[in-house]
Amino acid sequence: MSKLVIVGTVAFDAIETPFGKTDKILGGAATFIGLAASQFNVDAAVVSVVGGDFPQEYLDLLSNKNIDVSGVEIVKEGKTFFWSGKYHNDMNTRDTLVTELNVLADFKPVVPQDYRHSEIVMLGNLHPLVQMGVLEQMEKKPKLVILDTMNFWMNCALEDLLAVIKKVDVITINDEEARQLTGEYSLVVAARKIHEMGPKYVVIKKGEHGALLFHDDNVFYAPALPLEEVFDPTGAGDTFAGGFAGYLSKTEDVSFENMKSAVIYGSTLASFCVEKFGTERMENLSYKEVHQRLQQFKQLTQFEIELA
Ligand code: AMP
Repeated sequence: MSKLVIVGTVAFDAIETPFGKTDKILGGAATFIGLAASQFNVDAAVVSVVGGDFPQEYLDLLSNKNIDVSGVEIVKEGKTFFWSGKYHNDMNTRDTLVTELNVLADFKPVVPQDYRHSEIVMLGNLHPLVQMGVLEQMEKKPKLVILDTMNFWMNCALEDLLAVIKKVDVITINDEEARQLTGEYSLVVAARKIHEMGPKYVVIKKGEHGALLFHDDNVFYAPALPLEEVFDPTGAGDTFAGGFAGYLSKTEDVSFENMKSAVIYGSTLASFCVEKFGTERMENLSYKEVHQRLQQFKQLTQFEIELA
């Protein structure tokens, strides 16, 4: 098993969907990534920052899943990162209502010593300078660096973002963001342009329409499982990334062929995330449920055809 370092926000979220509304609940990119990766029993650590207002029980939730949280700094006199979003009726698009960086604004990440030789680094969504700071602390070149980001950072820190994109092997990004980053409508052309920016592998997430994995001239497509209940898509992208990274860490195989399976695991885990508000579904998810859904997934995508 490969060691995994995860950086990203650990946050409070307030969410509104057509099905309801929450007050401040547990959220954050690293939280969702950690919960998803924990399904693979990997040796993982989260690097992040929270304020004195952050409940210890939320950190315990990650530690109880064997995620090392010694790299989560607690700034006693500070406030935790806060994000609020409202989903449109189609649940595929949303408006960000509030992004309060709070303690994230001055955050200098420190990777725990035990994880500075990790083979896999998952740079989850937060300031690209923090992502870069984590990469610079790695004492051995990782086998694979994966980056996830969001339009917010394209809007306010594009140069820093491009500098870190140059250094990663895989980028996971949603379709709208891929278009914004490249100025291209076609996702095939956008993926090619992103390859040219650095990453050898480009994963474009398309919400309820699945995900595409690009590598050179190869493309692999995984649909999203059609679900009866979609309650709250928040964190689905991070959960996908956590499943992808967790599976690769567990299998220690970073080939394109194995990444196809990682995309399937990522999509499967994301399909659970959206069934309840926030992290609720991921907190109690058993591997047995994941396994059953993988079987459904297989049936959904398998077909025999005679080629004339
Ligand atoms: P996703 O739905 O996968 O895009 O991720 C939503 C999660 O990302 C929420 O839990 C937020 O706390 C977190 N988030 C929202 N905006 C940002 C941002 N600008 N940087 C880092 N994390 C963010």
